[in-house]
Amino acid sequence: MTATPIDGKAFAAKVRADVAKGVEALKASHGVTPGLAVVLVGEDPASQVYVRNKGKQTVECGMASFEHKRDTSITQDELLDLVKQLNEDPAVHGILCQLPLPSHIDESVVINAISPEKDVDGFHVSNVGLIATGQDAMVPCTPLGCLMMLREQHGSLSGLNAVVVGRSNIVGKPMAQLLLRDSCTVTIAHSRTKDIAAVCRGADILVAAVGRPEMIPGDWVKPGATVIDVGINRIDNPPGSDKPTRLVGDVDYTSAAEVAGAITPVPGGVGPMTIACLLANTLVSCCRTVGAAVPAGLTA
Ligand code: NDP
Repeated sequence: MTATPIDGKAFAAKVRADVAKGVEALKASHGVTPGLAVVLVGEDPASQVYVRNKGKQTVECGMASFEHKRDTSITQDELLDLVKQLNEDPAVHGILCQLPLPSHIDESVVINAISPEKDVDGFHVSNVGLIATGQDAMVPCTPLGCLMMLREQHGSLSGLNAVVVGRSNIVGKPMAQLLLRDSCTVTIAHSRTKDIAAVCRGADILVAAVGRPEMIPGDWVKPGATVIDVGINRIDNPPGSDKPTRLVGDVDYTSAAEVAGAITPVPGGVGPMTIACLLANTLVSCCRTVGAAVPAGLTA
């Protein structure tokens, strides 16, 4: 079998188009423009590129983008003051604090200071609880993007066996909660899981969120399964090599694609969906604030 590649780039473009339509409708019906504030502390080059992309795509969708760059010398209290200002700003419907933060700042304190309604990353404990109890919440962007692709692929996910490899708070755990909400039978595997290969082989849906390059080979994949590879691993070549740095996932794409029914590539799979879902969350937050209907298909 040769798997169908799931084109995350094309899907993300569709989500952004739906968001742009929703923004237009909201401007016409309520005279409000959704706004996303991104807080970046420090000079990390990868974070700067990521934040620039977010800002560009936010504006392209017709939303307002506010960037707040701060030096690494900022204190936790100063950062909390900034978050408080953004919580109170009616032009801001989504607040994202780019992680990681410098080591003298407690990330969980900052995240939990963001108003849950504006927590477009979906990391606030209130949103974690709302998701776990099946209520309307801000859903973390990466798992939301994965869920959208899975629904598109399968229609109903009800009754399917899903295995999520990885149990982080930002990907693995919320992914498992969302799959459970969609009535999958969910197993979470992690570094202590016994015979992880056998666990993965039982999966109709296999989500890999580990951070280990090409850890999952094709013979861990059930024939016909849908494989969602969240991993982004940078492979640097030896000094002096003229080959560019490569990005690979947590799944060995070549061998897995021979067995799976559908699979996301890296790059071009889950990655583009993450920013698209951030924009979707900002629109959803604005809709909820003004009491407008949330456009279909943009949330869990
Ligand atoms: P974390 O490091 O927070 O979590 C990794 C998880 O993998 C842990 O639960 C860990 O288990 C588990 N794990 C580690 N080694 C093994 C192993 N040998 N066998 C089984 N499980 C193992 O990572 P994140 O969840 O933050 O990210 C995962 C990957 O996804 C990374 O490559 C990251 O770059 C990528 N990512 C991609 C995004 C995108 O937009 N596409 C967004 C966010 C992340 P344990 O808990 O037992 O230690």
